[in-house]
Order: sequence, then C-alpha cells, then structure tokens
Amino acid sequence: MALLTDFAAGAEVNRASATDHTYAHYRIVPARHPGRTFGTAFAALVIAAVLYSVLTNPRWGWPVFAEWFFAEPVLAGLGRTLLLTALASVSGSLLGTALALARVSRSPLLASLSFGYIWLLRSIPLIVLLLVLNNLGYLYETISLGVPFTNTVFLNYPTTQLLTPFAAAFLGLTLNQSAFFAEIVRGGILSVDQGQHEAAAALGLPRRRQALRIVLPQAMRSILPTGFNEIIGLAKSTSMVYVLALPELFYTVQVIYRRNLEVIPLLMVATVWYLVIMTGLSIAQHYIERYFSKGAVRNPVPLPFQAFFQHFRRPLPVVAQAAAAASKSGFRDAQVFRSGGAVHVNAISKSFGSLKVLDNVELTLPAGSVTAILGPSGSGKSTLLRTINHLERVDDGFISIDSELVGYRQKGDTLYELKEKDILKSRADIAMVFQNFNLFPHLTVLENLIEAPIHVRGLARDEAIRLAQELLARVGLSDKINAYPRQLSGGQQQRVAIARALALRPKVLLFDEPTSALDPELVGEVLDVIKELARTGTTLMIVTHEIGFAREVADTVVFMEAGRVLEAGPPDRIFRDAQHPRIREFLAKVL
Ligand code: ADP
Ligand code: MG
Repeated sequence: MALLTDFAAGAEVNRASATDHTYAHYRIVPARHPGRTFGTAFAALVIAAVLYSVLTNPRWGWPVFAEWFFAEPVLAGLGRTLLLTALASVSGSLLGTALALARVSRSPLLASLSFGYIWLLRSIPLIVLLLVLNNLGYLYETISLGVPFTNTVFLNYPTTQLLTPFAAAFLGLTLNQSAFFAEIVRGGILSVDQGQHEAAAALGLPRRRQALRIVLPQAMRSILPTGFNEIIGLAKSTSMVYVLALPELFYTVQVIYRRNLEVIPLLMVATVWYLVIMTGLSIAQHYIERYFSKGAVRNPVPLPFQAFFQHFRRPLPVVAQAAAAASKSGFRDAQVFRSGGAVHVNAISKSFGSLKVLDNVELTLPAGSVTAILGPSGSGKSTLLRTINHLERVDDGFISIDSELVGYRQKGDTLYELKEKDILKSRADIAMVFQNFNLFPHLTVLENLIEAPIHVRGLARDEAIRLAQELLARVGLSDKINAYPRQLSGGQQQRVAIARALALRPKVLLFDEPTSALDPELVGEVLDVIKELARTGTTLMIVTHEIGFAREVADTVVFMEAGRVLEAGPPDRIFRDAQHPRIREFLAKVL
C-alpha cells in the first residue's frame, strides 16, 4: 500500500515538472545506428576506390572510348542490335504466347506439339541453332511455298538468298526466345485464379475473349518481371550472332579492336551501350508493370500523362434521372428484366470417380419462382447449380429451360452435345452469382458490367453502359461505377456481381451461397437486393444457409443430402413439420 502511495506521489511530481516546461522545447536525439554509419562509410570507400581506379588508370583508355563511342560504325552496330532485339522480342513473345495457349488447350495433339517444340528449342544451345540456320542452304537448297504433297508451288527461292545473316539471326533468336517465353506465359496463365476462368465461362464470353480480356491481362502481372528478364537476356544474346558475321554492336567493336588493338576501351564502348539499353528496358518495364497492376492494388499510382489522356476519354452518357428513378422504385417496375424461364431438372446423376455427387435429382421450378436449396456441406448443392448452366456435365438425365435442352440437341432418343460456342451463347440465359464474387479485378465496375452485354448479347457500347448504370442504381452503387473491385467492401462486391449477372438479362439466376463469404453485418445488404429481385419474375435458385431469408422469400425449399433431394415443399411446411427426421435435425442445428 505504501508503495502505491509513493508511486502516486511520483506521478504527481512528474506532472508538476511537465507543467513547468513546455514540451515544444525538449531536445530530440535520434537513435544512433553505429552499424549503419559503418556501412555507409564502407560503401563510400568502395565507390571512391572503384572510381579512382577506373578514372586514373590510363589503360582504361577513356580518350579512345570517347573517340569511338559515337563513331558511325558503332552506332550502325547499335542500331542493328536494337532492331534485332525489338523484332525478336515482339515475334518471340507473340509466338511464345501462342505456344502457351496451345499448351493449355484442350487438344492433346496441339498441346503435345507445343510441348515438343518447347522441349527441343530449350535444349538446343542458341549458338548451335544460329549456325544451323546459317547453313540451312546446305540442307535445303531452295525454300518454296506451295500445297504440301502436291506439285503446286507458288514461290521458290534459293535458301542462301532468302536467309541472309540478319534473317538467320532474327529467326534463331525468335525461335529460341519463343520457347522460353511460352513457359513464362503458361506460368502466368496458371497463376490466374480458377474462379476467374469460371466466371468468364459462366457469363458466356467467347473463348478468345476469355483468354484475351480476362485471363491474359491478369496473367501479365506475373509474366512481366520474368518476361522482361528474358528480353534483357535477349538484348545481350544478340551479341551471340557475331558468329554469323553480322555487324551488330559486339561484332563491330571486335572488328575495330582487331584493327587498332585498343581492346579494353572498345569493349567499354559496347558495355556502356548495353548499359544504356538495359536502363531503357528497365524503365519501360517499370511503367508497363504499373499499367498492368490496374485494380491489383487498392490505391494505384496514376500513370504519367494519365490526366492528360483522360481528357480524350468519351464521357459516360448521363442517365442521372433514370438512375434516380430506378433507385427509388427498386427492381419492381424495371424494364430490364426478362420474364423468367421454367427449369426442369430431369432425373440427373453425376459422379466424380466413385463418388456419386448427384443421385437421380428431379426438380421443377416454374417460371418466376424462387427456390431455396438447403443442405449440409458436400451434399451436392453447388454441383447441382453448376450442372444447370452446364459448367459441369451430367452423366445421366437432362436439364431443360422453357423446354429447351441445356447443352444438348435432341435427335430421336439421342442427345448430341452442342459445340462450345453454342453452349456459351445459351449460357447467357442462365446467370450465376458465386460465393467468392469472382469479379474481374483488373476491370472497373463498369467494365465488369458491360463486358458480357457487349460481347455475348451484342449490345452497342452506349446501350450497355446505360443498362449498367441503371442496374448499379438499383443495387445502390451508382457512385462506384469507376471503382475497381478491390476498392469495394465484400457486400458491395457481391452487389456488383449480382448486377453483372443481371446485365445478361437472364431467364434464370443461380446463387451459390451468395452471402457465405461476407461479414455478418454485410449479409443484409446483399439479401435485400435478392429480396427485391425475387419479385421481378426472373426465376431464382438460391443455395443458402440463411434460414430466415429462405423462409421469407422462397416459394419452395429443397433439402438436399448426399446428392439426393430429401424433401421439397413450401417453406412454411418444411420449416414447421418436415417429414424427414434428418431435416428436422439439420434445422434444429442451424436455426
Ligand atoms: P456443396 O455445394 O453442397 O457443399 P458440392 O456440390 O460442392 O457440395 O460437392 C459435392 C461433393 O462432390 C463433395 O463431396 C465434393 O468433395 C465433391 N466434388 C465436387 N466437385 C468435385 C470435383 N471436381 N472432383 C471431385 N469431387 C468433387
Ligand atoms: Mg457449395
């Protein structure tokens, strides 16, 4: 107790002395870092020693260096090096990207061809490849263009005339570069989240558009650092084409020092030019990386001249009035909704290996109905949704929407699977909202929303923008139209995802646990949007664990377990007295 009083008294004294002086006059002493000071001194010493030696040793021959640095043959050689690097990196990257896409394609033969090419070209040393190409005239005296295996020939040239040293160098570097670049691009593609592929497919985007707009731009983030490494490597590898006696930078320098015997100064001429090239490439890399980091960071740094270019952007059409009206009236009287489709799930079964995930599931959802699917984890709810928009194929049975088969064409009693192009097109009638939102992070909210309407539905851009603005107003996010998904909260992201699904104007909208990834306080805002939607006439199918919500909005509740529908019926009955003891047990646990 005495100690305590002493302590209190001490505190009193401190406070008293603090009021005597003003804080502003305390002296601040930064922490000392003797190690850091020593390191700095050491670095200064090393730099001074290197500079001293380089500048004072006359054998470096700086006057000779100065004489040759801008000499005409050197600049001509530099020009050839730059041209070769630029050409080979462009064609190498293009060919490499094509090879990577071939390698991940679904055609096994195409994938093997690409694999074989990469294996071969990565194994052959560049210098060997260059020499073989240089001697191609010995192997094939002429190069002709015609129809294979016939006598039709359009062009016929002597190989040595066509394959000049420059062409051989360009070809060799391209072939070599593409093999390495292909693997870098493949690595980038693999790094893109599976959900992105799935969301792009669910929107029905054509395959090409999926690859070029959704997957590759995101892959760029991991392609660029290693890709630029390759290009810098390439700029240096061009020095290897001296074996073809092509007067690029290194070869030119060699020719000169053989004549004047000033080896070191001339090697320095080449070295400094290489340094200049690499510096330029590194700066380019920095800005290109920043461009492709769009949306990947929460607070992006604006690019240089971005404000300037923004001037030339077309402004968004103003639909403030329509938007305001829309946000007031909610979804109810919207013109944007199509009437719902009637879904018929006809005795479908599906197995993964020996695991039967769907077992003879039979469901009928009338047009405009709202169905909630409940059931324990692993009971096949997600798989059921995925079969409805044909992201997953069924083993048996079929699904139809307004009596049209999903994914197949019927002829007699045989079902023929549709071509992917047609599946993608028909998939747009069945939109899907995912648990993890799967918004495209590199596109703004607006770009996320107009992508499918333009490229699947064929809407004009202005029309698509207007639709997007209206939908955003309805989900209460008009002010976020130019934000990137990562700048939004989870609830906002899911509302954008719902708007994106609605922008397809689907007949059927599938929700796979739309609120499971959200904080409890954000669940409400998403459920409110779905509640609004429930009365628009679009057919909804919602996998959810929100029992209260299901009871309020659903016409039908379906309970699934182990791939089977245990019971289906109006919510009142299911929740009050389910027939099945298993359901009563489940409800007792989650309620
Ligand atoms: P739910 O959504 O009801 O939790 P899912 O439909 O996701 O269940 O999965 C049902 C069952 O199918 C689970 O046991 C799951 O492990 C299995 N499954 C789902 N997809 C695959 C797949 N591609 N390969 C193998 N098993 C899978
Ligand atoms: Mg699931």
